[in-house]
Amino acid sequence: MELLNLKECDINGKKVFIRCDFNVPMDDYGNITDDRRIRSALATIHYCLDQQCAIILGSHFGRPKGERDDKYTLAPVARRLHQLLKIDVKLAEDVVGESAQTLARELENGEILLLENLRFEKGETKNDPQLSAALASMAEVYINDAFGVSHRAHASVEGITRYFDNAHKAAGFLLQKEIQFFGVLLERPVRPFAAIIGGSKVSGKLEALINLLPKVDKILIGGGMAFTFLKALGHDVGNSLVEDELLGEAIHIMNEAKQLGVKFYLPVDVVAAEKFAPDAMSRLCSVQEIPSGWMGLDIGPATVRLYRQVLNDVQTILWNGPMGVYEMDRFARGSNKIAHFVADSYATTVVGGGDTADLVQRIGLDEEMTFISTGGGASLELLEGKILPGVKPLMK
Ligand code: AMP
Repeated sequence: MELLNLKECDINGKKVFIRCDFNVPMDDYGNITDDRRIRSALATIHYCLDQQCAIILGSHFGRPKGERDDKYTLAPVARRLHQLLKIDVKLAEDVVGESAQTLARELENGEILLLENLRFEKGETKNDPQLSAALASMAEVYINDAFGVSHRAHASVEGITRYFDNAHKAAGFLLQKEIQFFGVLLERPVRPFAAIIGGSKVSGKLEALINLLPKVDKILIGGGMAFTFLKALGHDVGNSLVEDELLGEAIHIMNEAKQLGVKFYLPVDVVAAEKFAPDAMSRLCSVQEIPSGWMGLDIGPATVRLYRQVLNDVQTILWNGPMGVYEMDRFARGSNKIAHFVADSYATTVVGGGDTADLVQRIGLDEEMTFISTGGGASLELLEGKILPGVKPLMK
């Protein structure tokens, strides 16, 4: 998939609007706890600065309900941008109101303006044409660098693109990189290619599993979703997370894998707990011996060994979804062990965004992976084979 390239777009000396994804995690005191998303946008911002542009930045943050809510102000983001870029970053008091319009009009080349949280406007999530038009009227060129929100048809992501012709809009460097990585992964991966798929439910990853099946050589299942497959195979999984309505689908997927010659692996042992709690009584057991009423909350050591063995010869690894309830230390070990193995591997390693990116970062392995996506929902939709609404208008 080839996108309108920022480097082929004449932006020299122009006023540009860059849709970024500054939806960063913050603690209760408003401190940014992880600024990866801000740092990921710097390449595009620096390029526009080098091209003498006047730069207007827009982003959403959290889920304010379509009106101003100081809890969700972008002021901490403006401060972090200032620290990273070492130039002044103006912050508008609103999105398309008096303050934003005036500051945007008076913005000079080499200057940066950050609009307030786009979701302070009701129209943002409704893809309201009036809001799109108001945002578009501020700039001569539109750049989308917000991969994490490109699966949403929102006013600043999709609607706004209608106000710019192909010579005046482009994908930023981050968006380009994300689309390119997933494109190569899905269209021409170096083989053998293994997908490690975990997370809570089969339903959340069903479409991705179906789309991945004909493309991969091996699938390794972990997390809560494993139990629907195990139950479908006749195991008694106690109180583990199971989606009974998907038992038939689980069998279908395993049959399909067999037909396609894809090796399909399920956990052979688990860390079972009496209840879903960090202090629950727990023990290791094989998947055939989960005590009645207990639930599997992590993969066990035999599964870790098996998965390491299976991953030994692969050249490409895609990882989406934790192997257990990694938020609780007691059930994080399986995910941590797999993370270390993936990080040490010589294969190309691509980590989906969201929880998987979070867990890899928690244990400080983010630098060791080939690529970590900045978008959980967006990367999952790419794995499902969808064309993202924010990306479609930027295709050549
Ligand atoms: P997802 O959003 O589908 O990728 O799922 C991520 C969530 O799955 C994390 O919050 C994990 O705590 C949860 N999870 C992983 N393994 C299990 C399990 N065995 N039982 C229940 N939840 C799990």
